[in-house]
Amino acid sequence: MADAPVIVVGAGIAGLTCALALARSGRPVTLIEKRTHLEEVGAGLQLSPNASRVLIDLGLGKALMRAACAPLSLDVVLGRSGQRLARAPLADAMMARYNAPYLVIHRADLQQILLDHVRGLGVIPIHVGRTPQHIEQDEHGVTLTMTNQQGDLEHLNGQALVGADGLHSSVAGLLGDPSQARPAGYQAWRGTVPMRAVPQHLETNRTTLWLGREGHAVTYPLQGGQSFNLVVVTREKSAEQGWSREGQTDVLRARLRHWSPLLPLIEAMQSFKIWTLYDRPPRARWNKGRCVLIGDAVHPVLPFLAQGAALAIEDAASLSLCLTRYPDQPAEAFATLSRIRHVRAERVQQQARRNGQIYHLPWPLSLARDRVIAQKGAGLMEDYDWLYGWSLAGKTALTPPAL
Ligand SMILES: Cc1cc2nc3c(=O)[nH]c(=O)nc-3n(C[C@H](O)[C@H](O)[C@H](O)COP(=O)(O)OP(=O)(O)OC[C@H]3O[C@@H](n4cnc5c(N)ncnc54)[C@H](O)[C@@H]3O)c2cc1C
Repeated sequence: MADAPVIVVGAGIAGLTCALALARSGRPVTLIEKRTHLEEVGAGLQLSPNASRVLIDLGLGKALMRAACAPLSLDVVLGRSGQRLARAPLADAMMARYNAPYLVIHRADLQQILLDHVRGLGVIPIHVGRTPQHIEQDEHGVTLTMTNQQGDLEHLNGQALVGADGLHSSVAGLLGDPSQARPAGYQAWRGTVPMRAVPQHLETNRTTLWLGREGHAVTYPLQGGQSFNLVVVTREKSAEQGWSREGQTDVLRARLRHWSPLLPLIEAMQSFKIWTLYDRPPRARWNKGRCVLIGDAVHPVLPFLAQGAALAIEDAASLSLCLTRYPDQPAEAFATLSRIRHVRAERVQQQARRNGQIYHLPWPLSLARDRVIAQKGAGLMEDYDWLYGWSLAGKTALTPPAL
């Protein structure tokens, strides 16, 4: 089945990036998506240099620069008073240190840019409204059985299959690992507002991390400065299941009633969506033969490090490289992918969990945290070379175990 496509299940960030990378390397690809419309909702995403570098290498640079913003700095402030603890430079500093930008972008814009580039290649069929039911594989290839919108069964043959179907992956279950991510005890309130409605006292060309005992918040500009993003994360013991739902401004306002610098922004927001945050350890093995999982399907990341999408993008590029190294042995390629990505994914997940604990420290432990942040000051991001400095460059020359 050498001419059969790699079947990529899930046209989200991981799946679209993977399809692009594979097609660019000359491999036939077919995308399968459960939804019938590929337009995204959601709110902002931070795209750190480890991810922006991959997207730029895939030719998305110009489109990204049009839709995204590069905030001047990361400011850490206290939610109640607005007092600034630290300001770490981002835009120029990140370019100088990592040779790739630290961007913020609306999720819908990123999804659209990826989709435009996938469609622009003109060689990647996208089958929407399909739900995987069964996966079979042997030494020659893979057969995916799925239902279409009418409920009829369809079969698709491929040389390999990539499960990029997100947090509640059904491909994982079909490959024999039905374990599920669990609510992590947090919920995220996300909303955007036109820039003209942002209260004047807020600095809109920066990313700001707001800390307080009630939760934490992050604000930054979006859409080339046309809109402004707010995400607030609160602890929630009995978080509801489900991906996103409508949130009431009154409830959030009551929770953050002591955060006077941020309240006017909450007032200006028309609506919020609430996300229950999920977590799980990474799956022990990412692949079964010539089928593999990437992105949230294999290692969801709590958003306290802003790395879930970034890791998914790294996975996609790494997968394409592994298949280039083992062009006719997808099982070997995917076992290598699992081996080289597992440790990094776990480290990122752990750091995100740790950040969540630090951001939500109760008083008086929070005083010690604030002192450390203030001492680090402009050097706040310098502990993250291991994260933001990631790149595929040079890895093609390495032997497989070190890839
Ligand atoms: C509040 C919040 C803030 C975040 N902020 C950031 C951030 O700033 N930076 C960052 O890097 N990450 C961030 N993330 C994480 C990021 O959103 C995810 O890690 C990322 O979307 C994962 O991409 P994915 O492609 O693996 O999954 P998804 O984006 O979920 O895509 C999965 C795709 O598969 C499809 N699908 C699902 N099931 C099936 C099926 N059975 N068959 C076919 N298709 C299917 C879905 O419809 C979807 O299109 C944040 C997450 C949250 C909740």
